[in-house]
Amino acid sequence: MLEGLLENNNVGSTGTLMPEPKPATILEWYDRHARRLPWRMPPAQSRKGRRADPYHVWLSEVMLQQTTVVTVGPYFQKFLDRWPHVSDLAAAPLDDVLTAWAGLGYYARARNLHKCAQRVVHDHAGVFPDTEDGLRELPGIGLYTAAAIAAIAFNRNASPMDGNIERVMSRLFVVDTPMPAAKPLIREHAIRMTPNTRPGDYAQAVMDLGATVCTPRSPKCGICPWQENCRAFAQGLTEVLPRRTPKPERPVRRATAYWMVRKDGAVLLRRRPESGLLGGMMEVPSGPWEEIGEFRDTPPVTADWVDLPGLVEHGFTHLRLELKLKAARVDGRVKADGVWIAVADFDNHALPTLTRKVVRHVLAHVGRGIKL
Ligand code: SF4
Repeated sequence: MLEGLLENNNVGSTGTLMPEPKPATILEWYDRHARRLPWRMPPAQSRKGRRADPYHVWLSEVMLQQTTVVTVGPYFQKFLDRWPHVSDLAAAPLDDVLTAWAGLGYYARARNLHKCAQRVVHDHAGVFPDTEDGLRELPGIGLYTAAAIAAIAFNRNASPMDGNIERVMSRLFVVDTPMPAAKPLIREHAIRMTPNTRPGDYAQAVMDLGATVCTPRSPKCGICPWQENCRAFAQGLTEVLPRRTPKPERPVRRATAYWMVRKDGAVLLRRRPESGLLGGMMEVPSGPWEEIGEFRDTPPVTADWVDLPGLVEHGFTHLRLELKLKAARVDGRVKADGVWIAVADFDNHALPTLTRKVVRHVLAHVGRGIKL
């Protein structure tokens, strides 16, 4: 099937056969244009056989899932300053790790990060396994992360597949099938292209090309080292690949959240259940998040509740959440699950983005026109 696809798309605009893109071409480009990133070994050093620290590569790759390089930079530095070695991270209390992670989202990643550090220390004497299979045994390390660490930190012939690499491959070889059905074919192209010489630099070179040149919109084909070998460029298809299947609308869940403030200004927050969305994270208490047309109002305690204007909206991967907010001054002795925390101390707790949005929304209204 792949051979058929290659045959059909192996032509340029004039109908002539195009040669395969060469890994050496992009490695030469990488030697001159590699992004300087704090977790990386620069190509000049890597050519001498020096490798990036597996702990740094692992930490950065976990942080970079669903997050941009610009956002990750300061977090990466903060983690390294605080936990310079994997053993330091393994010995840290989970709450400290979650608090330091706050703002990066997807907290399951932070929990797995901590678990993974502990497994590396306890089962592998603090040394990361150097194969994809060995790495995949660890918590939170999937196909992509295992391949990225194996290639970048251990120079293994591995092919990490992220959005950047998929886009470059789908254009180079004109993979016309919509995503995600195209993934296996794109992967085969990527595996075939991965060289035995400098596979770690090669992986980072393709990542860089996708991030800086072969961008989702308006790719800069004029400065691309692979332009002569790119079927999409030759056939005028760069703007339409990779093709996407339109995403179905995400369902909307609704709930009412209750801001309870004590006489001394402390606010009641509670921890979400360990499993499920934002597992174990602190939240302003709310009713269950349900797919319902109307907001249900089930206050946890009796009080003079005030409706706050507007809604807090938050997108998760598979659903959108709308929270209506109510606020009340309550007696600190009321029976309600949670802990009372002064607003000024919120920064010392691992508050997920959703909770921060709720806090911002409340503080924008209470005391400014709305009295409790
Ligand atoms: Fe991407 Fe254009 Fe380069 Fe093709 S020529 S790989 S579309 S930047």
